[in-house]
Amino acid sequence: MADQAAIDALRARPVPPQGLWIDGAAWEAASGETIAVVSPIDGARLTTIASAGHADVDRAVAAARRSFESGAWSRAAPAERQTVMHRIADLIGKHALELAVLGVRDNGTEISMALRAEPGSAAGTFRYYAEAADKVYGEIAPTAHSVLGLVHREPVGVVGAIVPWNFPLMIGAWKIAPALAAGNSVVLKPAEAASLTLLRVAQLCSEAGLPDGVLNVVTGHGAEAGEALGLHMDVDVLAFTGSGGVGRKLLEYSARSNLKRVYLELGGKSPNIVFADAADLEQAARVSAFGIFRNSGQVCVAGSRLLVQREIHQEVVDRVSAIAAAMKVGDPLDLATQAGAVVSAEQLEKDLRFVAEAAREGAELKTGGHRILEQTGGYYMQPTVFDHVTAQMPLARQEVFGPVLGVMAFDDEEEAVSLANSTVYGLAAGVWTSNLSTAHRMVRAIRAGVVHVNTYGGPDITVPLGGVRQSGNGHDKSLHALDKYTDLKTAWIQL
Ligand code: NAD
Repeated sequence: MADQAAIDALRARPVPPQGLWIDGAAWEAASGETIAVVSPIDGARLTTIASAGHADVDRAVAAARRSFESGAWSRAAPAERQTVMHRIADLIGKHALELAVLGVRDNGTEISMALRAEPGSAAGTFRYYAEAADKVYGEIAPTAHSVLGLVHREPVGVVGAIVPWNFPLMIGAWKIAPALAAGNSVVLKPAEAASLTLLRVAQLCSEAGLPDGVLNVVTGHGAEAGEALGLHMDVDVLAFTGSGGVGRKLLEYSARSNLKRVYLELGGKSPNIVFADAADLEQAARVSAFGIFRNSGQVCVAGSRLLVQREIHQEVVDRVSAIAAAMKVGDPLDLATQAGAVVSAEQLEKDLRFVAEAAREGAELKTGGHRILEQTGGYYMQPTVFDHVTAQMPLARQEVFGPVLGVMAFDDEEEAVSLANSTVYGLAAGVWTSNLSTAHRMVRAIRAGVVHVNTYGGPDITVPLGGVRQSGNGHDKSLHALDKYTDLKTAWIQL
């Protein structure tokens, strides 16, 4: 259990200016340019990160390619890779509190959640794929006796990974760990608003014995460092988590360069559906509220549309609004805080624009809807609930990525399915019912990568996470993630 005194000691630590991590060492950007890191806790400058340009990305990709061709990692026995990856997990575990506090100062997630979701989950992810390294087999094809058909699984080479700011360590680990387990080298581009913990993890990887050049981190602007990585002729696979707009650009970069494979984990507008026969409405309301408001709604799978059967609609809206109004929002480094800061002034502005627009369109504001704690200099917003949202409103169609919930009523299962599937997205969903048949029918009918039943959030590393439709393609987590970072090669041998 983390204690508040230890957190408070770490929050005061100065953070030195951060370089790029290339070939096992820290470097300034070739241009010397840096980006100021502003903490959303108080709006104060925390440190700087290096702003990588084309030359830096070229160097990082060259280091990755060199390390890959050297075989030091790519041809190491899987059991050797496993040992190093377990050491990485150990070091992340050993430095968990330091990493969690550093990450919270960078992106504002409440520490109670960050501890579990960031170093906690990253260490678990490294362990999971460490174990997978020597347990995934190739295949022998069922051929005629005169031939032998072998299917080898080979690393793809250089993986470019581009990740967002909401859970940098967790999502970073979901890309890095399976890529490394399969023997690849990686160039990682974190988000401008959350690079610090991933830079620290890159150092820990070196300390654990990962050969130089196998993991490189290029910080910088998306339109510069990210674009350079996306267009690079020597990157074999791009693994991305972020917005649909940037996802589209990455597909274009691939088409304009070397046709590298592009995997996209994008946004959502996930429906969370409460039927009148749900076993425990208070539990449904509480989990649903936390399913949208934790990390201030900055969660890709957030249940941002609450669909409630008409006969219990009022009761559920009242309960969810009361829970939202009572949530403890504020200093993200306080262990008692339930929702921390919004990541940046721009994101807060965007959230408030959605609120103003929803009110203009006729949705009914039940609670929240405004900035709070402005005197701290930080970016905080009261959890917000709108009722009587219609399927046509932007609040029902577009991802806010903030603490804003829209509630809609439905009459029957058919209408629930139709509303659930009425956006361009297909990332996550929730269903609350005590009828097993309803639950199974809904799981089949909803177009989403994950459907939670009588809970919301929390699937562990053993199951895949991925979207359908404009929520993306490919999967993070589980053994399926290895498909992204491996190529199949056939050996056809005449006997
Ligand atoms: P974003 O798309 O703005 O940025 C993501 C990353 O892309 C950052 O590292 C950014 O620097 C980089 N980038 C920006 N422009 C680029 C360009 N032109 N070329 C290459 N790279 C570029 O997303 P964000 O604001 O950091 O994160 C929020 C989004 O991420 C939301 O849409 C959210 O739903 C999504 N997300 C999805 C998942 C998932 O698993 N499906 C998980 C978390 C977040």
